[in-house]
Amino acid sequence: MTVDMTMLVEYRPPGGEPRQIRVTGEQLHGRACVVGPGCTGEVLVDAGHVRTSTGEGSAPLGWPVVAHRACVEMEAQ
Ligand SMILES: [Zn+2]
Repeated sequence: MTVDMTMLVEYRPPGGEPRQIRVTGEQLHGRACVVGPGCTGEVLVDAGHVRTSTGEGSAPLGWPVVAHRACVEMEAQ
């Protein structure tokens, strides 16, 4: 079992409302479905981006993220 750090980010799905989620490094760097864990699928597609706040006085950073096609469609509703 891998212990993976998570961080709180603002997720902006394409066509969906921004919301706060926790992501792992794998999700943040576009290597794992941003909607998961607990979902399954094969193809990962563009799923908008998340913004990390880096602290007071610094601009938030945007990170492109991926998700399973079905997860993206679910987010867009
Ligand atoms: Zn998924």
